[in-house]
Amino acid sequence: MTPQNGVSSFDEVNLSLDKAADKIGLSDGVREMLRTPWRELQVSVPVRMDDDSIRVFNGYRVQHNGVRGPYKGGVRYHPAADQEEVRALASLMTWKNALVDIPFGGAKGGVQCDPGELSSDELNRLTRRYTLNIEHLIGINRDIPAPDLGTNAQTMAWMMDAYGQIHGYVPGIVTGKPLEVGGSVGREQATGRGVVFVTRHAAEDMGMDHSEARIAIQGFGNVGSWTASIACELGCTVTAVSDVNGGVHNETGLDIAALFDHKREAGTVAGFGGGESLTNAELLELDCEVLIPAAIDRVIHKDNAPNVKAKIIVEAANHPLTPEADDIFRDRGIPVIPDILVNAGGVIVSYFEWTQNLYQHRWTLEEVNDELDTIISRAYREVRETARREGITYRDAAFLIGVGRVAEASRIRGFV
Ligand code: NAD
Repeated sequence: MTPQNGVSSFDEVNLSLDKAADKIGLSDGVREMLRTPWRELQVSVPVRMDDDSIRVFNGYRVQHNGVRGPYKGGVRYHPAADQEEVRALASLMTWKNALVDIPFGGAKGGVQCDPGELSSDELNRLTRRYTLNIEHLIGINRDIPAPDLGTNAQTMAWMMDAYGQIHGYVPGIVTGKPLEVGGSVGREQATGRGVVFVTRHAAEDMGMDHSEARIAIQGFGNVGSWTASIACELGCTVTAVSDVNGGVHNETGLDIAALFDHKREAGTVAGFGGGESLTNAELLELDCEVLIPAAIDRVIHKDNAPNVKAKIIVEAANHPLTPEADDIFRDRGIPVIPDILVNAGGVIVSYFEWTQNLYQHRWTLEEVNDELDTIISRAYREVRETARREGITYRDAAFLIGVGRVAEASRIRGFV
């Protein structure tokens, strides 16, 4: 993604790494080691289009750090998914997986494309070519991709199939697959469910009754839509949602089931009759208790952060705030619950899916959801206690824990 004010996403993530490294007292050399991706691959992805022309897309896989286990991280299809953005997202995965203490390193992949412009057949061919081009780097005990922005369970089934043409039936090569080919119950909803678990804890800690809190959610894809749906199930009031085409607002609460029906028919939440239209910019500045950015990176920055009225920000998307916005909220006393904690539900249940594939065994939905609650709630409590003890923000606390674990594992393995 284009740098903002000359600062790239990767630089911004490294600000958090550096703050943690200062507190732990890590040497310059160890910092450099933790900052630098272990391996980066750029591939060209030529695709025969439906009109018989050929287009060549750029694809990436960045394996940021594998000291705590096989690399793990999603694959993003988006026009801004360049090497720099994928590198930043890969490093976030390293700190996220360490924070929630699951046995994975961090990675991310991406293809720079607009999936909305491609037919299903074109996406299938693109996914197969991308998979074949990174095939030598991935593996069930090496690097396990998953869905992210612009990709979904279908994309994972194509990846698994392309990998399987070389290696045989290996469902554990990807997570977030359809149930029919080895996916886990609860995986599709897992990121949203984790977002809601963390939101409930944070709201309670601020003395809010979660059932009275008005929630605004930007993004109505996998993460945003399931966050909205599960929040409603648990008695919360979602007053606004949006997607790339615009949003809808109803102060008394949106009918989320009807909104799902509308999106199924219209392909967007925009134009839903159960509320008034609003823009994405208006949603971010709406009068509400909880603001959940669940779409793309760096949507809240120094220009709009002063106008945000929410009492708590819950980062369901990866890297939705710039560091300047973070500072503004710290000074305004508005807690920001960070991405590496909030959206970890996806990778936690991906871990369960991978485990089920290794054991060729199936968990029940109750087992998946209970274990997700246990892990993400424990991580929330650790972050909250560290923030209180050290007098630092939730983000700084989350990085302190994650970076500390990766540094310690490197030391024990005798890296340096
Ligand atoms: P998705 O592709 O399913 O949905 C993305 C949503 O964002 C769509 O509603 C889209 O219309 C909207 N959007 C796109 N561009 C926008 C814009 N410019 N303004 C407003 N809305 C816009 O993606 P997703 O899987 O829901 O991922 C969303 C975020 O959550 C990403 O940051 C991703 O990295 C993060 N995340 C996803 C998972 C997962 O399990 N899918 C896990 C962890 C984190």
